[in-house]
Formats: sequence, C-alpha cells, structure tokens
Amino acid sequence: MRGDRRDRGPDCPGRASPDGADRLPAGTGPEARSLTTAPPDAAAAPGLAREDRRVRIYEVGPRDGLQNEAQPVATSDKLRFIELLGAAGLTEIEATSFVRPSAIPQLADADEVVRALPRRDTIRYPVLVPNERGMSRAVGAGADAVAIFTAATDAFTQHNIGMTIAESLAAAEPVLNEAGRRGWWRRAYVSTAFGCPYTGRVEAAAAIEVGLRLAALGVEEICFGDTIGVAVPDQVAELAARAIEAGLPRERIAFHFHDTRATALANVAAGLQAGIRTFDASTGGTGGCPYAPGAAGNLATEDLVYFLDASGWSHGVRLAGILEAAGFISSVLGRPLGSKVGQAGGWDPATGAASPRP
Ligand code: MG
Repeated sequence: MRGDRRDRGPDCPGRASPDGADRLPAGTGPEARSLTTAPPDAAAAPGLAREDRRVRIYEVGPRDGLQNEAQPVATSDKLRFIELLGAAGLTEIEATSFVRPSAIPQLADADEVVRALPRRDTIRYPVLVPNERGMSRAVGAGADAVAIFTAATDAFTQHNIGMTIAESLAAAEPVLNEAGRRGWWRRAYVSTAFGCPYTGRVEAAAAIEVGLRLAALGVEEICFGDTIGVAVPDQVAELAARAIEAGLPRERIAFHFHDTRATALANVAAGLQAGIRTFDASTGGTGGCPYAPGAAGNLATEDLVYFLDASGWSHGVRLAGILEAAGFISSVLGRPLGSKVGQAGGWDPATGAASPRP
C-alpha cells in the first residue's frame, strides 16, 4: 500500500505524500564576463588545472525522478530513457531501487530493469538498496554498484523508514559489507543534510557526523542531500569546508540539490568553489518535491549542464542529448518539462541562437 512508510529512499516522505578550496578562476565570475561567453574548453579557463575543472554529473532521473512521479512508466520506456541518458554522455546513472514493490510501485520492475540495462564499460548503474532482502534481489539481477541511505536527523529516518539514524546504519552495514566483498562501488546518501521537515534547520556538524560514520563503513562516496530544497550557498560552503576539515576527502563528497526554492544552481556554484566536483541531477527535472506538492524537486540535468558548459567546466555530457532524453521522458509522463533550459533550450554563444527545445 502506498501509505506504507518503510524502505522508500532518501527523498521520500513518511506520511503525507504518495511515496515516498579551490577558488573559481579569475574570469569566470559575473564581474569578469558573462557566463555565456565563457570558453567551452576547460583548458582555456585559467586558474585551475584541467583535471580540477572536471565535474561528475550523477544522474538520478530513472530512480529518484521516476519514483516520485505519480504517472507509472513502462519498463521499456525506462530502458529507452536510460539508453538516451547514456547516449548523451552520462557515465553514472542511478537506475532503480530495490525497495519493496508495495512501498514504491513505480519501481516494482527493478529486477527487470537491471537485467536489461544497456551495459557499457564506461557507464556505472548504481541501484538503491534499503536492506539485505533488497541486496539479494540486486545481486540476482546482476547489479554491480549500490547506494544506501540514511539522514542527518533521527526524526526524518523515523518518519521515512521507522528507524533511528543508528539503526539505519546498522541495517546498511551488512549491505555495504556484501557489496564490498563483491567489489561493488558503494555510495551513501545523507538526506536532510541542510533542513528537515520535522525539526527545521540542520547544522553542518550533524550531517558531517553521519558522513564520517558512513565513511567508516567503507563507502566510496557520501552524498549530502537537500531533501526538501531549503539549502542556500552559505550552508553548502560551510558543510563542504567543515566536512573536508573533519577528514572526508573532497573526492568522496557529492551534493544532491533540489530546486524547490530556486537555489540549486547557486548551491552548485558554492559547492564548486569549496572544491566539490560531484553533483546529482535528474534529466527533465522529474521527481517533484514530496514536501511541497506541485513544486520543483531535483535539479534538472539540463539546467546543470548548461550552467557548467557556459562556465567552462568539463563533464562529458552533451546538452542536446540530455534535452532529447528530457523530451522523451516528458512525453512519456505527458506533461511539460519543469526545467528552465528544457523550456528555453540551450544557447550558442558563437551565434546568439537558441538551440532547439526538446
Ligand atoms: Mg532528490
């Protein structure tokens, strides 16, 4: 039943909703020149070595996006969406979630999706796994990378999965151990890292403490999530700086921003300035915000790609390909895209022309 609260995932509500160091180089700031005239080649942007102008985009559309859409999506359409995302150059695509089908009917076909994934050496497809039962399904389906989830507040984990943070970490440990034995890449989400719908503002120290405990469990990446879309850049800068200071290597930190209150890209900019290079996004901006019905949720991949391209960051993802995938999923869902770039199209600084919209 949809009201069942357990095992949903990092962004899912417990009750009301249906489911659930480096400075930017001189010349990239708005005072120096327009974002849209920044060089397309990262090597042309001064101040940072080429490798440090490389950003990882971690796509969450097929899992986090679709699990929060009311409209069910056919397995074949999910696979086509994933194919288009890979064709656009994304190399990390969170494909689905092995939660109980009764908890998230939208992802009940997880086994089928993973078995049919378009496997490429260059693409990683992590799957969200809430417990050992989910892990055994993931193994059976042929997964080879995993994400687990907890949160920065006990109130959120209690509402979301009926556990304290400590209990959720205890539940994740055997999953992470099993994944480690199998040589899988492992990610962990810390939801409500900036604000909690039950307790309000979250101090950086609380999120970092959970992050450090996850690091001790061996995860390769810790993703701090702005689950309800309330974070602002100063909070992001503080969390990043203090997490690095506390011993979390910046290469192991990711951010998952929601654009619910139009702060997602500003938060990405703050994260970049603090030395973080991995950001989550959802093509088409799918997902909505479970805590603010009708509002935006996940940062749209096309908005992130435009921002990074125009600012001279390299990432390997083609905007036109993302817009194609966004157009596809929009037509499947039967609604217009919520993203800004999805509505406006891209823009060619060489000619001034807008690129076609999806
Ligand atoms: Mg999300």
